[in-house]
Amino acid sequence: MARQHYAPLVESSRIPGQVQGLIRAEPDGQTARMQALVHALGLPTEFVQVLTPQQWGGLLGLPQVLQYPAWLYPGGGWIDPGAWIREALSQPGVRFQGSTPVARLQRLGQDWVVMGVDGRVLVATQRIVLCTAADVCALLPPAATRDWSAHRQRGQVTRVKLEALPHAGPRAPVTGGGYALTLPGGDLLCGATSTRNDDEAHVRAADHEQNLQRLHALLGWSPQVHPTSPMLEGRVGWRFHTADRLPIVGPVAALDASPPLGGSTRVRDQAHEPGLYVATALGSRGISWAPLVGEVIASWITGQPPPLPTALLEALDPRRFRVKQARMDSGGSAAWSPTSGHR
Ligand SMILES: Cc1cc2nc3c(=O)[nH]c(=O)nc-3n(C[C@H](O)[C@H](O)[C@H](O)COP(=O)(O)OP(=O)(O)OC[C@H]3O[C@@H](n4cnc5c(N)ncnc54)[C@H](O)[C@@H]3O)c2cc1C
Repeated sequence: MARQHYAPLVESSRIPGQVQGLIRAEPDGQTARMQALVHALGLPTEFVQVLTPQQWGGLLGLPQVLQYPAWLYPGGGWIDPGAWIREALSQPGVRFQGSTPVARLQRLGQDWVVMGVDGRVLVATQRIVLCTAADVCALLPPAATRDWSAHRQRGQVTRVKLEALPHAGPRAPVTGGGYALTLPGGDLLCGATSTRNDDEAHVRAADHEQNLQRLHALLGWSPQVHPTSPMLEGRVGWRFHTADRLPIVGPVAALDASPPLGGSTRVRDQAHEPGLYVATALGSRGISWAPLVGEVIASWITGQPPPLPTALLEALDPRRFRVKQARMDSGGSAAWSPTSGHR
């Protein structure tokens, strides 16, 4: 679904990127076993193929052949996230109001009232979707998010300037214990670090070093530059992850629901706040998941048929945490799966 959304934008040059395939190196893999797995699962070659070291080294134009095989995902690729966001905001019907931090959210009659830092009302509306990553927790009352099992993780990417590269970067994006891709113009982007409970917003030389080491492990080479070199640039961001590694998408549980389960252990039966939705905790896959998450939220708001079966919708639903907590409180299993909430 992500491919269907992004590929036309890249192919029509509306956003920078490459959608002719992505390679995932498999250092512990064996070509024959990987081929047997693809065969056993009946996966079509349009979805995944197994490449020998020579094949993927040749596809990427690597100067030396590494010893292990790789997966080729012909439908994979990379996009420039900033360009995609600008493209999305330019669509008819979208009104973007940037540089306007939201300080509070309050229910007033049928409306959700959104207030700025100076107490000014920014908007009053019957339906609102919060997609402010971890900051969702600051906008909702603690009761709404206290069961969420989620944390923030700092990440830094490294951009190596073309002049510092001993030779051209990979011809297609490559992942596996890190990732690398060649940007238009020839600079190389690699990354990314992951550290929990880390609020440092500045780019760190130590993180550049880690990324260059990963690059070396991935491609068998890395540029000989000092981590403080001006040949390196970086960007820092935060991923908001849940313990179950799934996003949090859907209606917010009713704030006054106590006891929480009201007799049913089904996620969908739990009371929710009218008109208040979240789309957050996209973890490390926000770009990949965003088109589907957008459709899920649209279906919640419009009542159109959802793009996912009920079990998967419930696996993303913010109310799943409340159900899981109640099961634990009542001495049940802590384990939760998309279907375990069903009676
Ligand atoms: C180093 C790094 C590498 C990554 N690589 C990949 C990758 O290869 N593929 C992939 O799919 N994903 C990747 N991700 C993850 C991806 O970036 C996230 O999943 C995605 O950005 C999450 O989108 P979001 O809109 O939920 O949150 P964010 O992108 O964090 O956006 C939240 C927005 O809300 C705004 N906001 C917050 N609070 C308020 C407030 N009170 N008022 C107004 N605005 C507010 C923020 O300013 C921000 O603009 C990576 C992340 C990092 C850090």
